[in-house]
Amino acid sequence: MNDKISTLLAKLNTDLLIDGEWVPGSTGETLEVLNPATNEVITSVASATEEDAHRAFAAACRAQESWARTPARERSEILRRAFDLVMERAEDFAILMTLEMGKPLAEAYGEVTYGGEFLRWFSEEAVRHYGISGTTPEGSLHMQTVRHPVGPCFLVTPWNFPLAMATRKIAPALAAGCVMVLKPAKQTPLTSLYLAQTLIDAGLPQGVLNVVCGRSAAAISAPIMADPRLRKISFTGSTEVGKSLLKSAADNVLRTSMELGGNAPFLVFEDADIDEAVQGAMAAKLRNIGEACTAANRFLVQESIAAEFTEKFAAAMEDLVLGNGLEEGVTCGPLIDAHAVANMVALVEDAVVHGATAVTGGTRGEGTGNFFAPTVLKNVPPQARVFREEIFGPLAPITTFRTEQEAIALANDTEFGLASYLFTPDHSRIQRVSSQLEFGMVGINTGVISNAAAPFGGVKQSGMGREGGVDGLDDYTRLQYLGIKDPYS
Ligand code: NAD
Repeated sequence: MNDKISTLLAKLNTDLLIDGEWVPGSTGETLEVLNPATNEVITSVASATEEDAHRAFAAACRAQESWARTPARERSEILRRAFDLVMERAEDFAILMTLEMGKPLAEAYGEVTYGGEFLRWFSEEAVRHYGISGTTPEGSLHMQTVRHPVGPCFLVTPWNFPLAMATRKIAPALAAGCVMVLKPAKQTPLTSLYLAQTLIDAGLPQGVLNVVCGRSAAAISAPIMADPRLRKISFTGSTEVGKSLLKSAADNVLRTSMELGGNAPFLVFEDADIDEAVQGAMAAKLRNIGEACTAANRFLVQESIAAEFTEKFAAAMEDLVLGNGLEEGVTCGPLIDAHAVANMVALVEDAVVHGATAVTGGTRGEGTGNFFAPTVLKNVPPQARVFREEIFGPLAPITTFRTEQEAIALANDTEFGLASYLFTPDHSRIQRVSSQLEFGMVGINTGVISNAAAPFGGVKQSGMGREGGVDGLDDYTRLQYLGIKDPYS
């Protein structure tokens, strides 16, 4: 594995990508990228300044007209070639993600499949972008709607899914004919840089995609957000940063897509198959070490089955192998940094003060990395911080409910509204409960719902806009209506 890593790092471009060229930052400053399993430096990448961000955005703007005029079939074929290359380079992408983000290697391969799929999906959607045609009801006008690329975009991504969060934005933007600057999270820039090289290898013309990462996100974002040529910001990250970007987006009335934090309820009704629910709980909680916006955050279990569910769930958590994701057999990796571990400890302490009990875990893991033991808490009252805040780690708090209405009220008692989960075989209950859940997505008898073909997104403070599916492309277009006088009216 060490030889593979050395070869991979040796071929990786770690500069900024501006106007099709790999260039160092204007001050020559670099940024160290750490492995969260060891806290050792993996490598360093160029750190962009305000000036670099400005140059990157200017390069994108210069490419806008010709990219928008490039036939959809050509854009589609570049995306399709990029998909094929990502699949060919799956091992490289998986290793990079495990190195910089920590997820177990098998999960990193899973993200290659999921993230790569956006390139394939939008290569297929790029050529099927239709408008409507018709006559106004009184017959005087012929109506036509046409979709145009929205224009230059600023794409900001988080560290938790380094490949998929980038492809989920880049692929529809390219399919629609938009140019862009991508700013990956400073914790995980390597995957994005490798993806950018892969897109160039697939034939992407210079300037269409520019990548700048750096120590100061604010310094990179300020000149781009203030530029009157910017048409859209697409952001995935915390609700706090999303709100501040929404405020600055107001100055130029930008199109915005905001994929923000979550606080997913996981409802288990007494008629559910408990083993299936535990399996779903493990997937919804442990995917990505719990560091997912869709992660089940609050387990709401009907009183009569709570003891059995809790016991089986805790047993499954105890079977996890905590460690460096590159090592064989490891099923739960480190958290992104020491601050995240300290936050888990604080959430457990607060819950215990509120009357909760740790059924398993509750402590830091061993080793020099940022490890936290997979944890199940029972008897957690709704006012505990662990129920109100996004957890982002392998920590599962459980509470019980008596009636369906109580379960729905508990589930909706949050300012977030991204993912939710529901376990019951009863179809009328599925319809009744899901229609009352104030969430953008509902997983029914499953703990995994993300798919490139489905519209991903939230309501309330979880954000706006949808990524993936057919809606994902619309978010990168502006709709124009042509009203044409009917010559016979
Ligand atoms: P974060 O908000 O700290 O950072 C996200 C990105 O924003 C990073 O690239 C960061 O550098 C950048 N950023 C920070 N301050 C900025 C500023 N002032 N201007 C411009 N950019 C700025 O979030 P994070 O810790 O990287 O990611 C975790 C969060 O992301 C969680 O809340 C999670 O729920 C959310 N998330 C949401 C989705 C979704 O689809 N809804 C998906 C993944 C992650």
